[in-house]
Amino acid sequence: MTSLNTPAILLRRIEFGDFDLIVTLFTPAHGKTSAIAKSAKKSVKRFSGVLEPFSRLKVVLAQGKSKGMPVLQEASLEDPFFKIREDAIKTVYASYWSELIYLWMADGEPQEPLYRLISHVLAELNRGETPVEVLSILFQMRFLSLAGFRPNFDHCHSCKTCLDQIRHASVVSDPSTGGIACPTCGIPTNGRLKISKGTLKQLMWTDAGSLERAARVRFAPTAISEGLNFLEAFVPFHTGKSPKSLKVLRAVRQTMGGRVIPVAAKP
Ligand SMILES: [Zn+2]
Repeated sequence: MTSLNTPAILLRRIEFGDFDLIVTLFTPAHGKTSAIAKSAKKSVKRFSGVLEPFSRLKVVLAQGKSKGMPVLQEASLEDPFFKIREDAIKTVYASYWSELIYLWMADGEPQEPLYRLISHVLAELNRGETPVEVLSILFQMRFLSLAGFRPNFDHCHSCKTCLDQIRHASVVSDPSTGGIACPTCGIPTNGRLKISKGTLKQLMWTDAGSLERAARVRFAPTAISEGLNFLEAFVPFHTGKSPKSLKVLRAVRQTMGGRVIPVAAKP
């Protein structure tokens, strides 16, 4: 039997039989890995309050000689991020980010930069000093870059006119081409949204330099709305995954009063 002692973020947990849980963990050196937490449901002492979504943990996993699922032997809390789980809107954003990682990552492939990214945005979400919408923009922009789907905002995908040379304040995002179209080449339709050049520049800033600096980019409410609409269409299109939590996020966001409620850009 070999054992692995590692930091981990809990991405997902499901019930398994009457007594056990299966947890999916994101570890820096081994990527995504699932493990069985025996008696986690039955015993209140075993893993009590530890195996909660988004928690940052230290775990010990044991792998038997057969190549079955590893067994979670120990888990201790490094940071429970409990301020996320006590806030409905923070919870749905963190669920969306976690599900995106869960759906996109292959088992056992190290993704250390992505581990640092999700650790950072969860910690900031918990701290509560950066608006949750800005953190979601930051997470999605960097996730796209790390996953190899960085949007191309440099020029119109059709006529190749550079962004700065396009003589309109807004362009049209086009997920199917991975970038943007100038208003002459693209018409806003379903999935293709009008987005201002100013918003595109702010999106690019969030994907440059240190995470700490990027989180301080100041967005106007319209830029947040445009940025979230763009990314929440672009990310599912390019990853080929449709996180269920994104639907929940949209529904919760629409019912929250007094917060930025993104609306689909109109042609
Ligand atoms: Zn064009």
